[in-house]
Amino acid sequence: MNLQASSVHAIGGAPMVAPRTRFQRHLVRAKAEPSEKSVEIMRKFSEQYARRSGTYFCVDKGVTSVVIKGLADHKDSLGAPLCPCRHYDDKAAEASQGFWNCPCVPMRERKECHCMLFLTPDNDFAGDEQTISLEEIKESTGKM
Ligand code: SF4
Repeated sequence: MNLQASSVHAIGGAPMVAPRTRFQRHLVRAKAEPSEKSVEIMRKFSEQYARRSGTYFCVDKGVTSVVIKGLADHKDSLGAPLCPCRHYDDKAAEASQGFWNCPCVPMRERKECHCMLFLTPDNDFAGDEQTISLEEIKESTGKM
């Protein structure tokens, strides 16, 4: 089941709903803390890719932070930044297949990021920033 896709559609139809999805909140609770090194790698990647793709971080940087930490956690545990906003029966197999390694194929081909990490300017939740500091990530997600 694709939890994130359904929650994003719900968000798209009701902009007053907070953009942090149920699945992202679950992700914060359920995951072990990723290494600071991997968080930094994924933070830099996210800034660079936002600039390169002409996309922006969410107006709520907490959303951005949670996704970056989820990517970092997968980088630690799987060796690849598998998208953290999906359910997988076999994470290792998905990571080696590559379709959902960030930036995933839907993002590369159509600028579709269902995690709300990379938002096109026309998205209701797009902010105007393409940078996020390690401190912002720490502050908005608690310990690291
Ligand atoms: S670009 Fe794709 S893999 Fe990366 S966070 Fe967004 S949906 Fe997930």
